[in-house]
Amino acid sequence: MKLSTSLVLLAAAPALLSVAPQDARLIAESRQLPAAPSVALERALNTVDIDELSADLHFLASDALGGRDSPSPGLRIAARFIRARLVRLGMTPGAENGFFYEYSLPSFALDVEKTSASVGGKSFTFGDDYFLSFRALGTREVSGPVVFGGGLSADDTENVDFEGKWVLAQTNGGLSRRRLNRPTAQGALGVIVVPGPEYDGEPFKTVHGRWMARMKEPSARRMARKNATPVLYMSAESERHLMSLAPAGELKPGQDLGFEFSESCAYGQTDGTVLENVCALWPGSDPVLKNEVIIISAHYDHVGQRENGDIYNGADDNGSGTTGLLALAEALTEYGPMRRTVMLMWVSAEEKGLLGSAAWTKNPWLPEGMKAICNVNIDMIGRNATNELLITPTKNHDAYSKLTQVVEANAEAEGFTRLKSADNYWRRSDQYNFSVNMDLPVAFLFADVHEDYHQPTDTPDKINYEKMRNVVRLVIRMLADLQDDVLDL
Ligand SMILES: [Zn+2]
Repeated sequence: MKLSTSLVLLAAAPALLSVAPQDARLIAESRQLPAAPSVALERALNTVDIDELSADLHFLASDALGGRDSPSPGLRIAARFIRARLVRLGMTPGAENGFFYEYSLPSFALDVEKTSASVGGKSFTFGDDYFLSFRALGTREVSGPVVFGGGLSADDTENVDFEGKWVLAQTNGGLSRRRLNRPTAQGALGVIVVPGPEYDGEPFKTVHGRWMARMKEPSARRMARKNATPVLYMSAESERHLMSLAPAGELKPGQDLGFEFSESCAYGQTDGTVLENVCALWPGSDPVLKNEVIIISAHYDHVGQRENGDIYNGADDNGSGTTGLLALAEALTEYGPMRRTVMLMWVSAEEKGLLGSAAWTKNPWLPEGMKAICNVNIDMIGRNATNELLITPTKNHDAYSKLTQVVEANAEAEGFTRLKSADNYWRRSDQYNFSVNMDLPVAFLFADVHEDYHQPTDTPDKINYEKMRNVVRLVIRMLADLQDDVLDL
């Protein structure tokens, strides 16, 4: 959707002084002196250079960084590369202990040490003597008497009392979900699956053995269900031990086996991996307005690599925004201090579900007395037609603010004659968290998806560097426009 052109016409781009090369040198030499805003703007705009953008992006989206997964060594290298540049440019650290805002990636895993089962004095070791399916992961301690459940057929489970008891069931190679659900529907504590008389395999090993590593490996996704019912798959040896405790002769469904069974399962959140958002401040010069912070963000992570060795370089997603923010840092140092403070934030774990921006927006850090006033987020700014740019929120969107008008007012000066709606992508990048968690006016600048989106073919040679440069220049113009005494966004 094209945005209203009347808004673009309402606010004409500020007239620019054209600076001759000699003058530019003089200005550069006297950089300490405050320049007229339009001169400073021109100088800042001119620093954004296509070859420099390309050089940075060819590093960040190189195979050497392995696709910048969160977490990964490549992501940590990217963060340190960004930090080195910020130090060199003289930016101020934007986190409590330097340039890195640290947070823990929540992760979940099975604590094998605290997961076991026992009967009488005999204990069963998880992974060797029995196994659990993913559906059975949870945190619990369950003890009770054991009754026989046969093969858990409708006949086996009819007119028997399973309530408050473990049910020992025999399998001849597999028990359907329907059968496994019968005892628990009747209030059983759980099901102990053993190999049946005609079955000489190790069902727990053949069926579930390959999941062992995945269960122990921390995962960002919680796999356990609430109130998951224990279903334990016992080894043939464990089965022999259990049956040696049972009454002799043929067992009937519902029959008490005369012993108690206990199980403990410990599945939960682990300490997690520490990840970093890289945060830098460009302090404002106005004694009052410097406490108002404009946050410009871009995520610097991507999706890593696949087992087959394919590397997802993420040149456009979001090497382009990452590189653009570096160019913006340099442009700000050329501009000199603005009246308000600018924070540049390179966000991690966006691809894992906007986790880096969720961490920051739920627990923001800014120097004492400062407060965030808006966010401009750039993600995937290097592909498709040079004159086309997508933006959200548009005026059809609940979160619409005057910040969108600031984009519209400056777009044409950078050649963006076709502004389109990115409202369909509202929840797909970090501006979403700045809006919902901090209630800030936000703007998301985006150059749209393409056939290489989230493919190993999203590489730096396919980038439209002119367009990238123009988006960075547009953000500089926006920042310059956001310096009035009163900002009514
Ligand atoms: Zn992505």
